[in-house]
Amino acid sequence: MLYKYEMHTHTCACSACGVITAEQAVDIAIEAGLSGLVFTNHFYYGNTCVDRHQPWADFVKTYENDYLRAKEYAADMDFDVIFGIEELYRPGKEVLIYGLDADEIAAVPEFRHMNLPEMRDFVISKGGIIAAAHPFRHRDYIPDPDNFDGEEYFNAIEVYNHQNTPEDNAQAQEYFKDSKLHMISGADYHRTEHEMGKSGLAFPRRIKDTKELARQILSGDYKLIINGEIV
Ligand SMILES: [Zn+2]
Ligand SMILES: [Zn+2]
Repeated sequence: MLYKYEMHTHTCACSACGVITAEQAVDIAIEAGLSGLVFTNHFYYGNTCVDRHQPWADFVKTYENDYLRAKEYAADMDFDVIFGIEELYRPGKEVLIYGLDADEIAAVPEFRHMNLPEMRDFVISKGGIIAAAHPFRHRDYIPDPDNFDGEEYFNAIEVYNHQNTPEDNAQAQEYFKDSKLHMISGADYHRTEHEMGKSGLAFPRRIKDTKELARQILSGDYKLIINGEIV
């Protein structure tokens, strides 16, 4: 028995491009047969709609509240809601971070000034996962899609993103086919036109929080869901 989790989801309370609410995200994921969902809204430098002109701890708390709302909504539904972030580190280039609690981010105001190597070191020191989001995505807002920063800056790669074109995903899968980094898959779900259940990770057990999620990925004991198939 494997338990399917969506790893990459946006909601309207935190992501300016997100259309669905936190509760809708849970309902859609349950409908798709998933056991859990990771909230990875756009963070401080990304396409957030959380007010950046508030103290750091308040910014992080406001961001966290949407995840907490979903968690409370799902409390009686036998469904796991997990905290994550997606942060922009240079134009068009983003990381997905798992395994950091909101409190750990709130405690470090320097987080928003970290460059990519500093962020990698911080995330890894906390036992977390820092994944290159949708590498090789060719879109107007990404100035140099083929310029990958290098494996040394990450411990995971989003090798399948359901909003990427098949060509972009094929390029990533080819590029990273011999990589030792942990491979992940995500929907980049923003709106009901996007598909849930075609991406994500399948685990041999239920995952209750973001720390457990990071440990499970680091253990390597999981399978990828790629275009609806567990592979
Ligand atoms: Zn977005
Ligand atoms: Zn995203």
